[in-house]
Amino acid sequence: MAVPKRKISKSRKGMRRSHLALKETQLVECLKCKSPVLPHAICSVCGHYRGKPVITVEDF
Ligand SMILES: [Zn+2]
Repeated sequence: MAVPKRKISKSRKGMRRSHLALKETQLVECLKCKSPVLPHAICSVCGHYRGKPVITVEDF
């Protein structure tokens, strides 16, 4: 429901926005090389996903 902006107190606005903060990025440990990896993503260090090789990572 639309409410005029001046009717919303700073307190109420803050209470509503208390749920809007971004969460800290969650990292899981790669089963192969134990490096931190984003969940549901291939490890960029060793190219494994859930302990299985998926892609080959080139060495530099
Ligand atoms: Zn890895």
